[in-house]
Amino acid sequence: MLRITVVVENTASARDLLAEHGLAFWIEHRGHRILFDTGQGGVLAHNASRLNVPLDAADAIALSHGHYDHTGGLATLFEKEAVPALFLHPAALAPRYSRPPDGPTRAIGMPPASIEAVRQHTTIVWTESHAEIFPGVHVTGPIPRRSGFEDTGGPFFADAAGREPDLLPDDQAFYLETSHGTVVVLGCAHAGVVNTLHYVRALTENRPIHTLIGGMHLVSANEERMDRTIQALRHFGVQRLMPAHCTGFPAMARLWHEFPGACVPCAVGTVVEIEE
Ligand SMILES: [Zn+2]
Ligand SMILES: [Zn+2]
Repeated sequence: MLRITVVVENTASARDLLAEHGLAFWIEHRGHRILFDTGQGGVLAHNASRLNVPLDAADAIALSHGHYDHTGGLATLFEKEAVPALFLHPAALAPRYSRPPDGPTRAIGMPPASIEAVRQHTTIVWTESHAEIFPGVHVTGPIPRRSGFEDTGGPFFADAAGREPDLLPDDQAFYLETSHGTVVVLGCAHAGVVNTLHYVRALTENRPIHTLIGGMHLVSANEERMDRTIQALRHFGVQRLMPAHCTGFPAMARLWHEFPGACVPCAVGTVVEIEE
């Protein structure tokens, strides 16, 4: 049995649950419990307690990339003696900035308290390549960017002056094997959602993708990119789509229209179960 609980997301749709710009999933798979991303840190513990998610009992924590909205909750997680293994790419610790066309530069990297928590951590697995966390539970490591039509750039910079583009080399996804196909969990898919799925397929002998859940970063995707992304999702055999977080409203609306009955909202409190 695979069970995914949405603990942090930009939306919440039930009483006593809180939303913030960020993402965190609690994943239970064949007896293992994994936290994938941690949100900004403002609502993780609150939502976890309302949803009966025992964060203290995580067997592993994996981070999709170093942005604050995925790593800010990390600092609050290690107040106990037995710490779970932490999977992340070394570049997740790098300083990084955003410089949107209509606003000032701001720091959007991992907050200092979370960096300190990583530095104190005793069991880190640096995912410079694909890693199996538990049997059937994987993190991709860096994702080759080959699709050609996915603009994986953005207003992201490695320096505060905004001169050196930040290509988010730490971006990785998480995937789980089930008897129905592969379940892919995205942070922000900065490497491109199609690039990510191509890579997961290459790592899984081209097995079909059953469920795709998480941030798809299609906020500024043009029509050609959307068309080709939809084509690819069909080609990969995706049965269920749960676009979240940074997917963007126009892209979510298009996916909802193109995959009738297959799209599921992904607010805080949503639980997905896949029987095996
Ligand atoms: Zn991001
Ligand atoms: Zn994000």
